[in-house]
Amino acid sequence: MSPEEILKQYFGYDSFREGQGTIINAILEGRDVLAVMPTGAGKSICYQVPALMLPGITIVISPLISLMQDQVKSLNDNGIHAAYINSSLSDSQISRALTAAANGQYKIIYVAPERLESQEFLDFSRRVHISMVTVDEAHCISQWGQDFRPSYLKIVDFVKGLEHRPILSAFTATATEEVKNDIACILGLKEPRIVVTGFDRENLYYQVENIRRKDDYIVSYIEKHPEDSGIIYCATRKNVDTLQELLFTRGVPVTKYHAGLDNETRKKNQEDFIYDRAPVIVATNAFGMGIDKSNVRYVIHYNMPQSMENYYQEAGRAGRDGEPSTCILLFSAQDIMINKFLLERKDFSGVEPEDVELIRQRDIKRLQVMEGYCRTTGCLRNYILTYFGEKTGVPCDHCGNCHREYREVDLTDAAKSVINCVFETKGRYGLTIVLGILLGANRARLKEIHAETYKTYGVLKDRSEAELRLLISQMIQEGYLHQTEDRYSVLKMGDITPLRDENTRVIIRTYEEKEPARKARSAKRKSTDALTSAGYDLFEKLRALRLAIAREEALPPYIVFSDKTLIDMCTKLPKDRASMLNVSGVGAAKFEKYGQRFLDEIGAFSLQHPEAVTSISEDENSEKQSKIVEL
Ligand code: ADP
Ligand code: ZN
Repeated sequence: MSPEEILKQYFGYDSFREGQGTIINAILEGRDVLAVMPTGAGKSICYQVPALMLPGITIVISPLISLMQDQVKSLNDNGIHAAYINSSLSDSQISRALTAAANGQYKIIYVAPERLESQEFLDFSRRVHISMVTVDEAHCISQWGQDFRPSYLKIVDFVKGLEHRPILSAFTATATEEVKNDIACILGLKEPRIVVTGFDRENLYYQVENIRRKDDYIVSYIEKHPEDSGIIYCATRKNVDTLQELLFTRGVPVTKYHAGLDNETRKKNQEDFIYDRAPVIVATNAFGMGIDKSNVRYVIHYNMPQSMENYYQEAGRAGRDGEPSTCILLFSAQDIMINKFLLERKDFSGVEPEDVELIRQRDIKRLQVMEGYCRTTGCLRNYILTYFGEKTGVPCDHCGNCHREYREVDLTDAAKSVINCVFETKGRYGLTIVLGILLGANRARLKEIHAETYKTYGVLKDRSEAELRLLISQMIQEGYLHQTEDRYSVLKMGDITPLRDENTRVIIRTYEEKEPARKARSAKRKSTDALTSAGYDLFEKLRALRLAIAREEALPPYIVFSDKTLIDMCTKLPKDRASMLNVSGVGAAKFEKYGQRFLDEIGAFSLQHPEAVTSISEDENSEKQSKIVEL
């Protein structure tokens, strides 16, 4: 079979994406490969397809247990015999798996890097023919990367110890030159074919919000998107706990994940999320590597991450199915302090002492890049792409900044009035009262404290409340004011010496939302947008069937079929085996397992609704409609 035939037969896809074909052909010619592709681009298929065509076994080295389990489940569901070997298995399970592998039962075996040292595994690997060693998340081998894992260095000796040198293929989503060079050098790749695909993920909408009331923002965002699945990343475990609790009391079906939870709970919570029992998850960055949930519609960062590499990877977990999705970063000046604190506590075990200082400097540089992203008024997508070394053109018209008109306003005089007010009221009041006084508001609470007797009462009545809120928030960030942290937080004087200098200005940046200029891209339709209400009814029926099957098979629903595949069924309305195999994502093995049940469901629906139109093609001029019964 050709690579294309394998893609269709096992994975149910019609064509390779950018880069996939090149990588696969290079491997099949016996060349080493280094592939840099963003999350969601489709790295797995690049080694899984050739693994099926090479004569021997492919060993895939992968850092995380959950990742391996997911991949292996998905492969087996596609009719590809694969196994994983890691610490979640007992000794006897491992022996059995290795015996089966030695007897040629598996084409692909996933292992954790630690396993490469075990005598049993080494004996095994000398007895069998290993055609390829694939290193997934290959940046873990570089100490310049964010996720350096010393155990990855063991791959080198493992490969050297093999009787025949296998093909080496390395995959990562981290593109910096240093990391690329490190991977190639340390792994000892021989004249590798290096493939770097575009980093842009067109379906992702980027947005940065500089706000203090992050909880309110998140609650209101979730209320506006009640049907969507999303991930909210927080910097600390404590943050995760409190935010999850808050959302839970608001009735959001939410779960949480961080390293402080025991194994059992972590596993359960992760599954609740994957199986859509709890479509929203609040988590630290311990969560997510290897989470292949394809229908995540938004990723919100409660705090600024430590690097663009981390941010792009975490945010990239949105929209793996290619549907429009949103990545929001909530930023406040405090985030920079939190991050500096976390860097100070970073664990440097396994790193040469002379390298520690260098790494520290790079960490700080990374933080600055991230801060730049939070503060820029330019196109956010271009900022990211430029950082990853890609040429960029005009602003993308598909990010928060492209939809905003920024304006700088000099509010130095207003800032001085705010200081006078806080001084005059002796730092006894919180933000609401201070604002009320400055705006000269007429409220009972202000009367009680005789606000009208203050000299600053109403001095800023010509300004808008929103503008003054921004101003005060910025004055807190700049240290002119101090806000106490307790429950009844009050505003106190900070260090105002710089303001005494005539040249010091207090400038705030405000913006107005503007209409997208180029409708086409911003209005990128979701696939479900093509479905009519009848089509939607059918989609819901197919989803319910998928869930039932997922429960029977103990598989995540998206492994059975992705949303995209179900939508394609609603559009194409297959009636028999041949037309079902024409649906994207339906391969032969899956058809044998589930195809008939989906055909039956679609058939039953057509009997009940013989006239129904299920979808209208995106191209409005075309008359093409999908009908259950040809008239
Ligand atoms: P990565 O590991 O690069 O983050 P994955 O390998 O998990 O990405 O692939 C992301 C998604 O894209 C998966 O759902 C996968 O099945 C799908 N996919 C990969 N290649 C293709 C293709 N050629 N056509 C359609 N879908 C694809
Ligand atoms: Zn933009």
